[in-house]
Amino acid sequence: MLVLDGKICSQHIKHELSQKVESFKANGKRVPHLAAILVGNNGASETYVANKVKSCAEVGYQSTLIRYKDDISELELLQAIEELNLNTEIDGILVQLPLPNHISELKVIETISPKKDVDGFHPLNSGRLVQGHPTFAPATPYGMTMLMEYFNIETKGKNAVVIGRSNIVGRPMSILLSGNHTYGNCTVTICHSHTKNLEEICSQADILVTAMGKPGFIKSNMVKEGAIVIDVGITRVDDETAARGYRIKGDVDFDDVATKAGAISPVPGGVGLMTIAGLLKNTMKAYLNNN
Ligand code: NAD
Repeated sequence: MLVLDGKICSQHIKHELSQKVESFKANGKRVPHLAAILVGNNGASETYVANKVKSCAEVGYQSTLIRYKDDISELELLQAIEELNLNTEIDGILVQLPLPNHISELKVIETISPKKDVDGFHPLNSGRLVQGHPTFAPATPYGMTMLMEYFNIETKGKNAVVIGRSNIVGRPMSILLSGNHTYGNCTVTICHSHTKNLEEICSQADILVTAMGKPGFIKSNMVKEGAIVIDVGITRVDDETAARGYRIKGDVDFDDVATKAGAISPVPGGVGLMTIAGLLKNTMKAYLNNN
């Protein structure tokens, strides 16, 4: 059973990106610059943003973290994004979700310039993804395609099942897998909380992508012999023996599924790291479009 190791793959991508940054510097050019906005003090969001900022530094990008209290008005936040849109020194903008309830996530996403939308959530970029045009694919599905390419996973003609239909993971992943690319050309089934016979559908999948947020839900009886299993789920599960009082668990019962699958991406150490790689690649793309 092959472990689809996100650490090895993301390090490879980071190395490539840092070499490009070195060549920009050698030619007297500025480096890619990501602006990240964090509203409030949500613990998980703090960790995600800190990791993104740290990863920018690792590859030599500039990053600016802009923090607001959770009582910032929607208008103030939208104006701050407009300013970043106009700033020619900034290539990519991300606003860490979720946002406080009084702020419309859709308005925020639609205010980010599609040219700087390195999270790939703007409806214009989603539309381009659906139509198969060059775009910013959302970082998590983009990262998964890079993971499959790195490990030479054959996708053409395969049955792929994606569990989860969110705009940031499940739906765009289903589109990428069905598209006419080297990491696509699958026959895709998308499952969600109203799907009947989930076990039967999953057990026919050559490639199973699971983005549910239900720790340990996927067992070996749901998996075809030799299947490629990509686990997107990240859930904090209380564990008094862990230093932080919790552990991160994926949707897949790894030890059980490992008895049957051909490959599995681990949690942690799989798709999470690839999401950051996807964001860094998108930021490079935005920079190159901009220069
Ligand atoms: P979401 O809550 O928007 O979507 C969950 C999906 O799972 C829904 O579409 C729902 O219909 C489906 N679902 C739930 N229960 C189901 C069931 N019993 N049968 C079939 N489908 C079911 O979540 P999301 O934002 O797409 O995230 C999904 C998971 O991925 C979460 O654990 C999240 O933390 C994780 N995530 C990880 C990364 C990463 O970088 N690894 C990035 C984004 C999200």
